[in-house]
Amino acid sequence: MKKHKICIVGDGLSGLITAQILSKLDVEIHIISKKSQHKFVDNRTTAISPSNFNFLSEHIFKKKRNIFYQCKKVELYHENKNNNFNNFLNFENSKKGLMFIAENKKLRNFLITTLRHNKKIKTLKGNIEKIDIKKTALTFKEKKIYYDMILLCVGKNYKIVESLLGKRLIKEDKKEIAVTTTVKHNFNLSGSRQYFLKEGPMALLPINKNQFSLIWSMHQSFKSYSDNDIRNLITSKLKSIFKKKVNLNLSKVQRFPIYFKFNRNFFKNNIFAIGDSVYNVYPIAGQGFNLVLRDVENLFEKIKENLNLGLQIKDSLIFNNLYYDRKPENFLYSMGINLTQKFFRYNKFTAPIKNEILKDLNRFEFLKKIGLKIADRGIIN
Ligand SMILES: Cc1cc2nc3c(=O)[nH]c(=O)nc-3n(C[C@H](O)[C@H](O)[C@H](O)COP(=O)(O)OP(=O)(O)OC[C@H]3O[C@@H](n4cnc5c(N)ncnc54)[C@H](O)[C@@H]3O)c2cc1C
Repeated sequence: MKKHKICIVGDGLSGLITAQILSKLDVEIHIISKKSQHKFVDNRTTAISPSNFNFLSEHIFKKKRNIFYQCKKVELYHENKNNNFNNFLNFENSKKGLMFIAENKKLRNFLITTLRHNKKIKTLKGNIEKIDIKKTALTFKEKKIYYDMILLCVGKNYKIVESLLGKRLIKEDKKEIAVTTTVKHNFNLSGSRQYFLKEGPMALLPINKNQFSLIWSMHQSFKSYSDNDIRNLITSKLKSIFKKKVNLNLSKVQRFPIYFKFNRNFFKNNIFAIGDSVYNVYPIAGQGFNLVLRDVENLFEKIKENLNLGLQIKDSLIFNNLYYDRKPENFLYSMGINLTQKFFRYNKFTAPIKNEILKDLNRFEFLKKIGLKIADRGIIN
């Protein structure tokens, strides 16, 4: 019987994880990796919820669970006056953990190394010349290759998605930036923290007890700051947060544009888009990639079901059903994060009111339970 063939365009985290997961099925996979001149070393981290971590451990990280740091505590703070940080909400789970954090560069290296040894996955290096949506084929090095499915995991290169699938966008771009760095320190920080600061939300995600990754989303006015100014700002903010003599050693600062974007067109015929190529969420509390993982798990289950029933995957209802299963959740989740970002945008007139609203939040155990469940399994499951 002819082998089912799936092509994944893009070798970012979405593409690499999708390739590894789908390779557990009876399919042949091609992953297209664009030739790039610049070697960019990503200093960010990815935080994964416990249920997503279990899914990944079962299929990919069985023997390499130690790439991830298990974080058992999350604390949320709001800056109400200059250098006054109100701890308004805490979560803790000492048994299962609340999130699993890995450095993107380690995650990527591991995925690429295991991919090389995976006989079901073939990497094609180069640029695609054309995608034929009607025939589910693409032209690569002047050769036309036919597939049963094509998955677009092209990240910010969403023009390719919009030209193939169409564009029905909900977008808000306030030209903000996220600055990221890794901080080595001499105190013990085992839990992760989210600060809603005057300049914008800052997440501290520990990699180990003496090192955390920092992601600070900032107003567009900070774009003109030099890297040195940003480093000084980070250092002085952290010193006022930890209110003690601390040694801080910052790695190189990187900048990423951030905006909210949701394309309602996820698929057409046998082509489906995954990850940042269809939706971007603000990097608050490390949630972005968890949506991608739930999409991939759902896709995996649907393809598996079709294969078990001896059905073809091309021209099937898989993408249609995946779209209706996942779109509402992705939309609600993205909007929820967008609203959270807006709620906490600093305004000196509303800051005292926000403080009043947040004051007793930590006492509502049932709300915290719901919050934890949503962060772990999403809204719909
Ligand atoms: C500052 C910041 C911090 C974040 N922090 C977190 C976090 O803590 N936790 C979390 O869960 N999420 C986080 N996210 C979100 C997370 O980083 C993204 O969801 C994830 O990296 C998306 O990966 P991707 O593969 O979809 O896109 P990308 O990483 O952009 O990868 C796309 C890939 O496709 C390739 N490509 C593009 N066009 C083509 C083409 N034509 N042919 C072949 N290849 C192509 C590119 O070269 C690239 O390798 C954060 C995002 C930002 C901006």
